[in-house]
Amino acid sequence: MRKVNAYAAHEAGGTLEKFQYELPTLGSDQVDIKVDYCGICHSDLSMLNNEWGMTQYPLVPGHEIVGEIVAVGNEVKNLNIGDKVGLGWFSGSCMHCDQCMDGSQHLCGTAEATIVGRHGGFGDYVRGHWSWAIQLPKGIDMAKAGPLLCGGITVFNPIILAGVRPTDKVGVIGIGGLGHMALKFLSAWGCEVTAFSSNPDKKDQILKMGAHKVINSRDPKELEGIAGSLNFILNTTNVTLDWNSYLTTLAPKGRFHNVGAVLEPMAIPAFTLIGGEKSVAGSPLGSIALTRTMLDFCVRHNIYPTVEEFKMVDVNKALKHLEDGKARYRIVLKS
Ligand SMILES: [Zn+2]
Ligand SMILES: [Zn+2]
Repeated sequence: MRKVNAYAAHEAGGTLEKFQYELPTLGSDQVDIKVDYCGICHSDLSMLNNEWGMTQYPLVPGHEIVGEIVAVGNEVKNLNIGDKVGLGWFSGSCMHCDQCMDGSQHLCGTAEATIVGRHGGFGDYVRGHWSWAIQLPKGIDMAKAGPLLCGGITVFNPIILAGVRPTDKVGVIGIGGLGHMALKFLSAWGCEVTAFSSNPDKKDQILKMGAHKVINSRDPKELEGIAGSLNFILNTTNVTLDWNSYLTTLAPKGRFHNVGAVLEPMAIPAFTLIGGEKSVAGSPLGSIALTRTMLDFCVRHNIYPTVEEFKMVDVNKALKHLEDGKARYRIVLKS
């Protein structure tokens, strides 16, 4: 038994309060992680407010965890006490379905999500299956690495899925928690990067993060000005946009990739896709192996999210900061 001192909400939209719970005896394939830092992701807010109708209370949010292994089950072969690991949106998967056997454990139909029906990383300890406790490369900056485990892999995976080449011209819609990481990845990838932002105040920062140009997404003329030019667009926003205008900025064979959880159906004219063999796709997070690859890429190129650090005890202040749209660009809680 391990006592965990955490922060939990007891109702939709509720304030997080100190909450103690006990983890049962460690399973043979599980590990316990002492939390050093935990990022706050927009999905934590969505879960807190039960926007997806699947929240169980008390809810301990937090799924961008980095920390240290403090206990390993007796069948765990790859991790030892003292290892630094990260745990993201998923904390387990069946390891025997076709997706798991294919190395796409993030597509496992019964994958366990770190904050769904169990408790996440806003606490001093968290538990996970060994496979999802991802070993961190040497030299990684622990204080900034947490958000890579959810937001980071969410925007890195599409680059691989779409086969983005260094010679490509690419666009990123929405320069917030996810989008700013996408800019850094795509710029290090070698692409010409266009940022679509509705906030002119962010322009200088966006250029510093690696964007080559910034298009005001509220100005249809600016969108028209780059018609037919982009090979790949990554949408990180979760609001309904004028999809057709964006699809028009794609070059023939271009791909519009969606990682923003837009709740309304997307109205997309078939002819916009047909003429130029364009496609619209989406993806969640990424596989375990790709997450490892991404972490190595981050250390090699010194790519980290731009973070604001709060103490775990100030979690409510941090959540309010995110909810008010003030996060620049990702918030990390220090345990
Ligand atoms: Zn997340
Ligand atoms: Zn599976």
